[in-house]
Amino acid sequence: MREKIARFMQGRYGVDQFSNFLVMAAVVLMVLEMFIRIPLVRMIFNTVTLVLIVYAYVRILSKNINKRYAENETFMRYYGRFKNFAARKKAHMVQRRTHHIYKCPNCKQSIRVPKGKGRIAITCPRCKTEFIKRS
Ligand SMILES: [Zn+2]
Repeated sequence: MREKIARFMQGRYGVDQFSNFLVMAAVVLMVLEMFIRIPLVRMIFNTVTLVLIVYAYVRILSKNINKRYAENETFMRYYGRFKNFAARKKAHMVQRRTHHIYKCPNCKQSIRVPKGKGRIAITCPRCKTEFIKRS
C-alpha cells in the first residue's frame, strides 16, 4: 500500500505552504458554517469549502511542479507581507498605551511621543519642521 502511494506520488508536486493554507481556510469555513442559519450563506460557504479542498488536492497531485512552485512563491510573498502588516499593527496597539503617534504636517513622517507631557513642541526628525501638540 505504502509503495503504491509512493509510486502514485512520483513526479507529483506534493504538499506545500499554499496547499496547507487552502486546507486550513477550508477547515475555518467549515467551522464558521456551523454557526450560520441562512441557507444561501451556508450553501456559499459549502461551495467555497469544496472548491478550496479540490484546488488544494489538484495542486498536491499536480505534475506541473514548476508552476506549482511559482504559485507557492507568490503565496509566500503575500503571506509575508500580511505577517509584517499584522506585526506592525500589533506593535502600534501596544505603543498606543504609552505613546501618541503624530504625523509630521510637512512630510507625513510618523513621530512617536510619550503621553502625558502637556503641550509640547515636536521637531520632525526627518524634515526638522516644528509643530505643537498636546501629548
Ligand atoms: Zn517632517
